Amino acid sequence: MNLKEIKEVINTYQLSIKKHYGQNFLIDQNVVGKICELSNITKDINVIEIGPGIGSLTDEIVKRCNKLMCYEIDSQLINHLNKRFNSDNVLIIEQDFLKSDLKKDIDAFFDDKDIYVISNLPYYITSSIILKLIDNRYLVKQLTLMMQKEVADRICSKPSTKDYNSLSVLVQYYSNPKQIIQVPPSCFYPSPDVNSTVVKFEFYETKPFTAINEDFFKSFIILIFHQKRKTLVNNLKQDKRFTIDIIKTIFNKNNLVENVRSEQLTIEQIVNLCNDFYEVITNAN
Ligand code: SAM
Repeated sequence: MNLKEIKEVINTYQLSIKKHYGQNFLIDQNVVGKICELSNITKDINVIEIGPGIGSLTDEIVKRCNKLMCYEIDSQLINHLNKRFNSDNVLIIEQDFLKSDLKKDIDAFFDDKDIYVISNLPYYITSSIILKLIDNRYLVKQLTLMMQKEVADRICSKPSTKDYNSLSVLVQYYSNPKQIIQVPPSCFYPSPDVNSTVVKFEFYETKPFTAINEDFFKSFIILIFHQKRKTLVNNLKQDKRFTIDIIKTIFNKNNLVENVRSEQLTIEQIVNLCNDFYEVITNAN
């Protein structure tokens, strides 16, 4: 959809654009085409779109996929979406995606084809949506997500760079994220104050490194990146179970110097460290 078509829909349905829902609609057909092209959607793929908005991306996805299920929180948009995408192959769910029961919805609407998620994300909840998708990685095979450029840089960053943090580690533990399209503000209406990047993630079928307990791993990475200016030791000490003796023993085993910082560690080093702490704690119980 171009700007003229988007404005027509806004006028026809007397819509108000809601900044608090992160509403910046795509008006660049070239970007829409590229997102769908690089996602490799085919008639053998079911798609979930988070936040269809007025339907710019939806128009293109629906032409290419098997079935499409969309979650839209803004009740004002639902009438228009149901009319525009009135087909047995499309289901518009009026709901906050973060509150959805993904498994139940998938079982009710999709057949057993692979599922891809595509979204021009509402930027105010980017991390929460990614965390939910990671938790549901057994249900979906691939994600193509447009987000604020700074968040994309963090997600794809490597150790010893300023952007590397707990989100980078968590995402790269489960997947291999790649930045595939850079999108300037002029491609949206209204245009946002930030640059955007489309990131494609495929979840690993076999992860390169494995944490013994993934819930413990998640809390471990939050702990070690908690205060960026502190050393790894000082962040670890915030957990009272990790005494200085335990920390020293595990650092020796992993060949780590005392003043190392969390952002210097590779995913492999973090997983090894995490597993050692996990073993000490479980053996103590
Ligand atoms: N896909 C459209 C496009 O590219 O033009 C709209 C993208 S806009 C950046 C984000 C969309 O997500 C908006 O339509 C907004 O109403 C919707 N949204 C915001 N929060 C949501 C939530 N928690 N669950 C589902 N949709 C949400």
